[in-house]
Amino acid sequence: MNFLVKRMVMKRLDKEDKKFIAPHFRAGVVTPQDLRKIADVCEKFPESKIKLGTEIIIGGITEETRNEEFRRILDLPTFSVAGFCIRPVKICSGGFICDNNLQDSFSLGLKLDEKFSGRMLPFKMIISISGCARCCSEPMVRDIGIVACRQGYAIFVGGAAGARPRIGIRLIDNLSESEVIDTMERIIGLYEKMGRTPERLGMFIERIGFERFKQECQPK
Ligand code: SF4
Repeated sequence: MNFLVKRMVMKRLDKEDKKFIAPHFRAGVVTPQDLRKIADVCEKFPESKIKLGTEIIIGGITEETRNEEFRRILDLPTFSVAGFCIRPVKICSGGFICDNNLQDSFSLGLKLDEKFSGRMLPFKMIISISGCARCCSEPMVRDIGIVACRQGYAIFVGGAAGARPRIGIRLIDNLSESEVIDTMERIIGLYEKMGRTPERLGMFIERIGFERFKQECQPK
């Protein structure tokens, strides 16, 4: 990269960086005071928006009755962190606090979360959606990854992070929003019917073969 290009890139990144305020909580550990402070300051700036990149998980309450009491007082929807089910859909900031998104991926992500998260399956499933090819929500290493492009959305399947990382395989391109939802329904339905515990989607695809999987995911 020559000097001028490098300077332009640095300037652009610096400008981008100044748009966001990202408190650094080491190891993702926050105190109730930290959260209250953020809430208080955000209230003074009503135009501010908050986007979490990962889940908030509250642990440390080991006594079952106290745990139940905490849930009752908290009175918020929760999700299973360990169950064989679809986890909350990971949605990038595109269309919320980032304007690089090529489609309304944020709204689609919310629809997918409402429709699919919590559904019981042979094993856990992680879905993510990104508004552009920068892939900030890491769709390439999710069981199902959706990436917005100029002509619609592409779907990648079989990716995983963790101990057995895999890169997802591109299944289909240029889908409309409703086609994404229909295709997801077919992928998940197939895995629900034929997957074997503890087989992640990528292992399931490997077992039945990608071509057969692709064929089964076509509209009938
Ligand atoms: S993937 Fe693209 S649209 Fe989404 S947050 Fe990253 S840069 Fe923004």
